[in-house]
Amino acid sequence: MKRYSAFAIAREAMRDHSGWKRAWEKAQPKARYDVIIIGAGGHGLATAYYLGKNFGITNVAVLEKGWLGGGNTGRNTTIIRSNYLQDPSAAIYEKARSLYETLSQDLNYNIMFSPRGVIMLAQTEHEVRGYKRTAQANALQGVTTEFISPERVKEIVPIIRLDGPRYPVLGGLWQERGGTARHDAVAWGYARACSAMGMDIIQQCEVTGIKSENGKVVGVQTSKGDIGCSKLGIVVAGHSGVMADKAGFRLPIESVALQALVSEPIKPCMDVVVMANTVHGYMSQSDKGEMVIGGGADGYNNYTQRGSFHHIEETVRALVETFPMISRLKMLRQWGGIVDMTGDRSPIISPTPLDGCFINCGWGTGGFKAIPGSGWAMAELMARGQHGPLSAEFGLDRFRQGRFVDESVAAGVAH
Ligand SMILES: Cc1cc2nc3c(=O)[nH]c(=O)nc-3n(C[C@H](O)[C@H](O)[C@H](O)COP(=O)(O)OP(=O)(O)OC[C@H]3O[C@@H](n4cnc5c(N)ncnc54)[C@H](O)[C@@H]3O)c2cc1C
Repeated sequence: MKRYSAFAIAREAMRDHSGWKRAWEKAQPKARYDVIIIGAGGHGLATAYYLGKNFGITNVAVLEKGWLGGGNTGRNTTIIRSNYLQDPSAAIYEKARSLYETLSQDLNYNIMFSPRGVIMLAQTEHEVRGYKRTAQANALQGVTTEFISPERVKEIVPIIRLDGPRYPVLGGLWQERGGTARHDAVAWGYARACSAMGMDIIQQCEVTGIKSENGKVVGVQTSKGDIGCSKLGIVVAGHSGVMADKAGFRLPIESVALQALVSEPIKPCMDVVVMANTVHGYMSQSDKGEMVIGGGADGYNNYTQRGSFHHIEETVRALVETFPMISRLKMLRQWGGIVDMTGDRSPIISPTPLDGCFINCGWGTGGFKAIPGSGWAMAELMARGQHGPLSAEFGLDRFRQGRFVDESVAAGVAH
């Protein structure tokens, strides 16, 4: 792989940029791989990357039915934070956040990580108590957060209205090193690094069946023919239930559409991410100037990658109370993705009833922030065949044993 650097840019500038190579090779499937990953979203690509980087396993193919990063990874609102309540969640999200800090250097690809700070507004007494509790838990977990006063919130976000008609701002949970990153770049950076290690990333290759012999996975059927493998990772987010069905087991998971929208671009007015869980909306400003606004998930299961109009109205109506200035903005575009929700709002990183087949899903409305940590943990599970410390509490068996990792508060608003 030719490294990106200031010298490379200067050299290419001298020769009309004719020397740049494709970021990743266009691969055709081989007959067999040691490992196949289904799904070239952030989690699938990160799993492949850490298999290679941490365990030296590079005979790997990542199969994608559409285009790389075209699922939720390229559709999310890019919030990164690790202020979760339960210890196993804080551990994996903080691992991910800390990997994001140096991911551009690690991948030699600018993922535009911007640790601009994230505030979760407290707008009821109940939320004040909840967030103070989370700040205490985070202190014990080694995650840096603090509960801040309304005056401090106003200092950080001058455009906010503290005394809204229904819900005044009573404070906020502030994570100074939370922020955002460029979502496509995360997928592209991992893909380029995987390709450089000799892995095959095969787009337009839909997995249509999973082949097994004597209870062990032996390969997949795809739109480009059958491909053999010794180990299989299913990392397909909103289609996890569909793929599990093909592998012969059921998941405690629902698929719903989640949507977001952006406004027309305006001058810089807010340099942090603000989440308002009580009224259910969140907002940040992109580098292009658009206000990036996210709302709730549909209240019924579906596989549409669109979302419904009433959510846009609900989300914007709610946010206008706290940010009156957005009432004058025009909406530029709206989109949706299919997210995979578990009952305890925590992910599944697990072996499955099919020997050699592993699954990573259930990140629901908040898995972008987890990509590096999730890939790290899934690679460890697939390489060793048993859980490492990061994934130990996220196995499928927790649903049988009633050992839930309840994050319904931390994931209460979709982000
Ligand atoms: C509107 C919206 C806003 C969000 N905002 C945030 C946020 O601010 N912060 C945050 O942390 N998270 C957020 N999320 C959640 C986050 O986007 C997801 O949790 C995360 O991207 C999931 O990544 P993934 O790699 O598991 O899935 P995906 O990126 O969806 O990748 C799965 C891939 O599998 C492929 N696939 C499916 N079936 C097959 C098949 N049969 N064969 C081959 N390939 C297949 C799909 O085409 C897809 O590319 C948001 C999500 C949405 C929709």
